[in-house]
Amino acid sequence: MIKQKKQGQLIVISGPSGAGKDTIVEKVIKKNENIWLSVSATSRKIRKGEKEGVNYFYLTKEEFEERIDNNYFLEYAMYADNYYGTPKEEIIKKLDKGIDVILVIEIEGAKKIKELVPEALFIFILPPSEKELLKRLSGRQTEDKEKIIKRFNIAYQEINEVTKYNYVVVNDDLDEAVSKVESIIKAEKCRVDRIEEMLVSNKEELIHEFLMDEEFDNSLISEKIKEEI
Ligand code: ADP
Ligand code: 5GP
Repeated sequence: MIKQKKQGQLIVISGPSGAGKDTIVEKVIKKNENIWLSVSATSRKIRKGEKEGVNYFYLTKEEFEERIDNNYFLEYAMYADNYYGTPKEEIIKKLDKGIDVILVIEIEGAKKIKELVPEALFIFILPPSEKELLKRLSGRQTEDKEKIIKRFNIAYQEINEVTKYNYVVVNDDLDEAVSKVESIIKAEKCRVDRIEEMLVSNKEELIHEFLMDEEFDNSLISEKIKEEI
């Protein structure tokens, strides 16, 4: 009856560092084959446990700037003194194939995506409290105290941007947060603006087929209905 857009959905996920974005997205990706996580490029140093091409493509500042000049990024931004950017090419291919694409990016990058792709889905992840955010930032053991404080300060500015997003998910219980993000993505697929075409079947033909079916006793159909047919 309806033909829906084949194009994949672009999903932007932001939120303060330490809120749990990567943890949530990793679980969503594992459970949903038709969602692809875009791997960004960054000029920040690789963390213990991270892998080149899996978590990020790690570049020097000079290499990053060369790629900016070559129009390699869909968007890029500076965060805590380092560049972060979304490579363009693979995203367009995936969306054209009908695969949903998740970008986990900070708010300046998300603003650029909003300008470029207004129909993208924007989800903001929040921690249950500021105290818990600080605990998660330090518990992760990926930054020294100075860098943690820098990220915590940025978080206070980022939180003010939450109302610019379509949805907010508080990441208190992890499974609950994952389930909310999955539900939001599923609901988005049912939006009426994803209808490309209304396909109306031939009514007379269907009624005729129905009347010809020997299983039904046509003598029971009233004269009024017969006239309407
Ligand atoms: P982000 O990607 O937003 O910077 P991470 O996904 O790296 O955040 O999570 C930060 C830390 O918080 C990690 O150590 C992670 O294991 C932990 N964490 C994530 N979600 C939860 C949660 N719901 N409850 C407790 N700890 C969490
Ligand atoms: P982290 O250093 O903790 O991995 O990331 C720091 C911040 O940069 C996070 O808010 C993360 O979402 C964001 N980020 C990661 N990749 C990109 C990107 O490609 N573009 C932008 N604008 N931000 C990104």
